Amino acid sequence: MSVQQEASVDGEALEVWIDQDLCTGDGICAQYAPEVFELDIDGLAYVKTADDRLLQDRGATTAVPLPLLTDVVDSAKECPGECIHVRRVSDKVEVYGPDVA
Ligand code: SF4
Repeated sequence: MSVQQEASVDGEALEVWIDQDLCTGDGICAQYAPEVFELDIDGLAYVKTADDRLLQDRGATTAVPLPLLTDVVDSAKECPGECIHVRRVSDKVEVYGPDVA
């Protein structure tokens, strides 16, 4: 069985999206978590699905696999564009990223 456990905060599943309008294209996220982030041919970062499919729609969302949570959170913290958003799936409240109060 290849069901991948998803990341959670207090039992909540998490997802991540990128605001490409602010992305600088430096590629830090793709270095930290290449399983989740990748630069497309337009030079901007996009998220990927668990089966390695690049989601090329701006603002597309993908689940955060639990083993990669630290890498994804570090990406959000280090992102120079402040454009990586990690939020709860259930209520879309951001838990890591520039919009966290
Ligand atoms: S770290 Fe942020 S600014 Fe840099 S490529 Fe990734 S999403 Fe874009």
